[in-house]
Amino acid sequence: MNKIFEYKLRPNKKQVKLLDSLLWETKCLYNNALQELIDYYEKTGKYLNRFTQDKNYNKQIYPNIPAQFVDTTLDRLHRSFANFFRGLKQGKKIGFPRFQSYKRWSSFAFRDYTQGKIKDGKWYISKTNGIKVIQHRDFLGTPKLTRLVKRADGYYIQVICEIKSVKVKKTDKQIGLDLGLRYFIADSSGNKIEAPKFFRKAQYKLARNQRQLSKKQKEGKNRNKVRQIVVKNHLTIQRQRRGWLHKLSHKYANENDVVVVENLNVAGMVRNRYLSLSISDASWATFLSMLEYKLQILSRTFIKVNPVYTSQKCSQCGAIVQKSLSQRTHYCPECLYIGDRDVNAAKNILKLGQVLPFGEDTAIAGLTTQEANRSLGV
Ligand SMILES: [Zn+2]
Repeated sequence: MNKIFEYKLRPNKKQVKLLDSLLWETKCLYNNALQELIDYYEKTGKYLNRFTQDKNYNKQIYPNIPAQFVDTTLDRLHRSFANFFRGLKQGKKIGFPRFQSYKRWSSFAFRDYTQGKIKDGKWYISKTNGIKVIQHRDFLGTPKLTRLVKRADGYYIQVICEIKSVKVKKTDKQIGLDLGLRYFIADSSGNKIEAPKFFRKAQYKLARNQRQLSKKQKEGKNRNKVRQIVVKNHLTIQRQRRGWLHKLSHKYANENDVVVVENLNVAGMVRNRYLSLSISDASWATFLSMLEYKLQILSRTFIKVNPVYTSQKCSQCGAIVQKSLSQRTHYCPECLYIGDRDVNAAKNILKLGQVLPFGEDTAIAGLTTQEANRSLGV
């Protein structure tokens, strides 16, 4: 499993210039190579393969780009062509590789880690004697390669690492999670976790900034300044949110052997009939993917189930108890169980993950995610 660790770079003025020009030149290289492929196809009706393109490549055109960035940039182009062709074959809509503008082209990669190492708090890239790295914590696993990324607030380096899962002690605990509108999460143990205020606050702030932005003149100097502020605000909000989601998913992965969640695609379809909360939706998806890899690393089980009826069913006796969206409490006339609506749903979700759908009372904990999902027909 690959994981990306990201660190901020503190380049000096000269180094910023160098990074900027490397980005600019790799972008031009990409676009030229793309044009070459298109021209070749128009002339011959054939695809110019990576090997021939590399062989014909004139090193004099971009003398400043180190050979390995030429390599990885061409790789990137041919990879996006491979994706495009695969899409055609499978009938999926994957766009034709497009020409890149400087604004969109924000990264390039080293071939492997030995070429782009971090050493003594510095990152070594061509013709510099090391760019300072703010490495708040060390990366985990085996580093595969490094990548340079430019964001609104500066340059970052990403170390892509391969992480092998470890066996940890069993906790003998299983939990079901309900992702809701009222609470971010209600779990089957009865905990209800609200989304922090900054989830919402951030939204207003962003909307205000964007209004200001639309008032400024199209090409004016001020517009650019405001745009910078908007993008930076956006980054800050994103980081706050991710930080919170990391902590929460870490807690659930650490405390349980098995975590059962609802399949978000299905849940999303059900919910959108009432309300569309794009921010929560995006955060849920992020949360679930964080949770999944954290569980994988610990060799623990992550199960997605189809959430149909989870909010209406009684988690104690299985009776269907109809309730409107505003009704917060589940009260069962059959078995007299009373509980929070979302906690009841979370208990149902946990049950769905524990039992095979054909009424066989077999626990499926211990299966891999794929096996479990397949057996549940998800
Ligand atoms: Zn009941």
